[in-house]
Amino acid sequence: MAGHRIEIRGTVQGVGFRPWVYRLARRMGVVGRVRNDPRGVTIEAFGSQAILGLFVKELQGDALHAAQIVELRETTIPDEELDAFLIESSAASGHRALSIPPDLATCEDCTREVLDRHDRRFGYAFTNCTACGPRFTIATGIPYDRAATTMSGFAMCAACQAEYDDVGDRRFHAQPNACPECGPALSLDRLDGQAPSKVNPLAGAAELLSRGAVVAVKGLGGFHLACDARDGAAVRRLRERKHRDEKPFAVMVASLDAAQALAKISADEEALLRAAERPVVLLRGRQDAGLPVEVSPETKLFGLFLPYTPLHHLLLDAVKRPLVMTSANVSDEPICYENDEARQRLEGIADAILLHDREIAMRCDDSVGRVIAGVPTIMRRSRGFVPKPFYLARPVARPVLACGAHLKNTFCIAMGDTAYFGPHIGDLETVAAFDFLEEAVERLQTILEVRPDVIAHDLHPGYLSTRYAKTRDDVTLVGVQHHHAHVASLMAEHGIQGPVLGVAYDGTGFGEDETSWGGEFLHCSLERYERMATFRPIRLAGGDLAMREVWRIGYALLHDAYDGAPPIDSLSLLGEVSSKSIELVKNMIERELNAPQARGVGRYFDGFGALALGRARSTYEGQVAIAWDQIANESVSDSYPFEIDRARIPWEVDLRPAVRAAVHDLGAAVPAGDVSARFHNAVVEATAELVEALWADQGDLPVALTGGVFQNAWLAAGIEKQIINKNRVLRHSEVPPNDGGIALGQALIADAVLGDKG
Ligand code: ZN
Ligand code: ZN
Ligand code: FE
Repeated sequence: MAGHRIEIRGTVQGVGFRPWVYRLARRMGVVGRVRNDPRGVTIEAFGSQAILGLFVKELQGDALHAAQIVELRETTIPDEELDAFLIESSAASGHRALSIPPDLATCEDCTREVLDRHDRRFGYAFTNCTACGPRFTIATGIPYDRAATTMSGFAMCAACQAEYDDVGDRRFHAQPNACPECGPALSLDRLDGQAPSKVNPLAGAAELLSRGAVVAVKGLGGFHLACDARDGAAVRRLRERKHRDEKPFAVMVASLDAAQALAKISADEEALLRAAERPVVLLRGRQDAGLPVEVSPETKLFGLFLPYTPLHHLLLDAVKRPLVMTSANVSDEPICYENDEARQRLEGIADAILLHDREIAMRCDDSVGRVIAGVPTIMRRSRGFVPKPFYLARPVARPVLACGAHLKNTFCIAMGDTAYFGPHIGDLETVAAFDFLEEAVERLQTILEVRPDVIAHDLHPGYLSTRYAKTRDDVTLVGVQHHHAHVASLMAEHGIQGPVLGVAYDGTGFGEDETSWGGEFLHCSLERYERMATFRPIRLAGGDLAMREVWRIGYALLHDAYDGAPPIDSLSLLGEVSSKSIELVKNMIERELNAPQARGVGRYFDGFGALALGRARSTYEGQVAIAWDQIANESVSDSYPFEIDRARIPWEVDLRPAVRAAVHDLGAAVPAGDVSARFHNAVVEATAELVEALWADQGDLPVALTGGVFQNAWLAAGIEKQIINKNRVLRHSEVPPNDGGIALGQALIADAVLGDKG
């Protein structure tokens, strides 16, 4: 007999890992114990060397999909005389585990059951087990057990109770355990004035969908609007009713094979699609996918995801076609999640609602991921991730709440050696979004049993997230510069304290000088930063209006590059715009009237994109920048000229020579794809040149590439390649590079700035 202590790090709490280990040990005749510890799970196992070897092999296998083992460490311990294998309670081991785990996609066992005619859960949309199912979205309080979930009103039948009580069962202590006898039930409401359907709700919804209807479907964290993804007229109807012009819709497909028929999928992308968090994954659509243009009117990039609830599996099984699944909301308001609210708000949008009587306690939008230049990157960290712990390399000295920024708002609470992101709140532009932020903060505080009295916020005084911070009494407020926070988020992701050379490229962020920054080279630690270089500012005539009327940015670039006398007649872009409007914008720029300066690299992408694509307007944030990235001709390796003005402090990247060269190319009818490639290459080369220059000055610091612009794969890959010392380039993966990831950096900076004080 031998004894081994096996310490496992990774996602092993709240996923049914301990009961699974218990069943495995029993089956293999291993004795000992398993318990949660602050960072994962510890197993003490006793048996013959050969059996223990097999046991560890099984632990490392893929049998429990929702678990992700990052590290497994084995040490030998003295043999103990035991006759059983036990699960030690968390209390006994003195460790308080995070009370509520995140929601998990339906596991393979449960999927098999709901599709198996002979199983008692055949066709049952609320099937779950300890390895899968709702958690965060049904929890109403702590500790996490059935009484504190929206399942409290459903009494388990004898069969379910027996599963729940049996430590050898897959449903041992599965809090939302249910079956058709005792659990929640589906119903189908018609909103189009037609008679309610008599058939089973799922079959009824499937029938409506196959006839081109828009059906709202209640999911884990909110309602989706669904329609047949192959039916162009249905998708167009959905766009019109939802007031969504051109932004791509996400599509749900039944299987990986079905996904492959619609998009090109690499091994990394497949892993992301199959992850237990089941994010929507942005992929390049296939030419022969057979999807109508309405799904994604003007970019090949669109979201795909696999079903993550039994309801999704059953619905797809019934309709046998891919479904558009988009958050049920109007424009950018928070996603609908209550039955009555959905009936009211979705009237005129959905023809019917497939709903049920298990309430959603906390709304939680879908997460979004994308493989960017070889790195799987979470771009929206929400359903499936909330409230998963994010471990910090260095603990914070006190709990901190960080309120995030403005667009794609997500907040974060850091305490001890762990940070917790809240759900995706969305763009903080409406009262509804503000209320959601307030409610979600309260809730995460409750779950974590903490009420931080340090609150970090963006420096922008007008952001609703800043105003929210200021509504809280008796707290210490710490304003954090936007790009410093971006860099700190990335440092946290890599577990380093700095200093680093941060390269933060995004659309906008409030600077210390009260202007808009966004092309920043920052010498950074958590406590402080120094601004080493930036981009030459662009005047945004009309302020925020210029983000939609991107021709204004294009014009501003021309105006600057040609000293006020640009050759506008030679450019197709400005043909779309009246000469009166151009004159007006010219005046605003020259007189500096409502034409604030902005240094965001994202604005350069908007402006160059507008000029080269001849597109005057953008209907959603970043639309032109994305289209501009997608068309770049990969075989073009030369670039446009640029200058770096080292007489200024900070240094300034000057792209006026690039503007003039692009205008020359466009006049000579050079394809937009070549112009795009040369522009991208110019930004890559300018970045690399600055990094080398700053390295010469400051030493070879790690280079931290962060900010929403780094969702642009060409740029990320190009810069990585140009910077010879590649292992010194840090990129995002778990934490979004865009403003959805900024709260983590805010929290750590606030803690570092306060040091031992307060
Ligand atoms: Zn399951
Ligand atoms: Zn039951
Ligand atoms: Fe930003």
